[in-house]
Amino acid sequence: TTISRAITAAVVRGKGAPFTLEEVNIREPEGAEVLVRVVATGMCHTDLIVRDQLYPVPLPLVLGHEGAGVVEAIGPNVTRLAVGDHVVMSYGFCGGCSPCDHGHMSYCKEFFGRNFGGSDADGKCAITDRQGEAVHDHFFAQSSFATYAISTEDSAVKVPKEAPLELLGPLGCGIQTGAGAVINTLGVRPGSRFAALGAGAVGLSAVMAARVAGAAMIIAIDVVPERLALAMELGATHVINASHEDVVERVRELGGGGVDYALESTGRTEVLRQGVDVLAGRGTLGVVGAPPLGHEAAFDVNDLLLGGKSIRGIVEGDSVARDFIPQLVELHRQGRFPFDRLVKFYDFEDINQAAEDSERGLTLKPILRMA
Ligand code: NAD
Ligand code: ZN
Repeated sequence: TTISRAITAAVVRGKGAPFTLEEVNIREPEGAEVLVRVVATGMCHTDLIVRDQLYPVPLPLVLGHEGAGVVEAIGPNVTRLAVGDHVVMSYGFCGGCSPCDHGHMSYCKEFFGRNFGGSDADGKCAITDRQGEAVHDHFFAQSSFATYAISTEDSAVKVPKEAPLELLGPLGCGIQTGAGAVINTLGVRPGSRFAALGAGAVGLSAVMAARVAGAAMIIAIDVVPERLALAMELGATHVINASHEDVVERVRELGGGGVDYALESTGRTEVLRQGVDVLAGRGTLGVVGAPPLGHEAAFDVNDLLLGGKSIRGIVEGDSVARDFIPQLVELHRQGRFPFDRLVKFYDFEDINQAAEDSERGLTLKPILRMA
């Protein structure tokens, strides 16, 4: 029998049901796992689409995939992390397949199972409830809507002790997704034109990264005026309110024919279409917004081929978290990547309020404080 410890976790027990804080048990770390005392965890749109079962992860389930905390215990095979290290938990990957070997862990052949499987590779859960029943976990190799989470030494990224730990969790998903899409995948170049379709947490992270990358024109597009105002403060040179203006016409006008790079982060297929239409010749659209599984999108084929345009799907900003997260921490320290402007803190017990505020567009990036 494994030793386990009592923790508090936010459990989703039914499709679209509220998070309920429960006293549950979590086992100790094994192999290359680490047990992290969660200090704070971001909430991402992906948590909510899984709560609502648009992505089929089994219930009951502990969500949360932007956790930051302190290593409390390590498994016997851990060599890179030590008790007391400060870490940001990021996505899971196998480390042994061809994409992983080539430094593209977010396209790991086991990505879906390791992040959305709801258990470990053998189908086992680390968490049990008061009745002794298994609760699905390992969400994004962490399930950090809890006071403790099991991660691995591959997915838990060590960050400097001077860095503001309770702020850093969202670097593990939403923020590295937007920033990585711009820097790692699109490769936005100095002097170029960039448009963010969607100025939520992911889109605004892309705006900040486009500024770091030296884009000359940065257009932010959304339907929430406050988000557009913030985009201007974070480096956008132009904004478009999609509920009042013709997005395609306006971007073509501003860009003198279109933009070199665009990023779709709304998860809406009609916006994806706009993303293709706003590209200038040889431009690239990155797609990170996630509609419900099975959704299809349309675009004008001859416009795509005659324009030499590209559409690229992007997971987690194609980031090697262990390299990219410390880089973003350093850019933040220098004041060049002020992602703290996106954040609002909530107590852990106010998790449902955080979800509601996020869905109503009132809060860009909720962070739940555990302590
Ligand atoms: P969010 O809800 O904060 O952002 C979406 C934004 O789109 C909102 O600001 C909303 O007002 C805006 N929007 C809605 N309709 C619009 C329209 N017609 N035109 C322009 N803007 C419109 O969510 P987020 O946390 O930024 O995440 C964005 C998406 O990325 C989600 O679908 C999420 O699931 C996905 N995601 C993907 C990855 C990945 O690895 N690919 C990682 C994290 C999140
Ligand atoms: Zn996410």
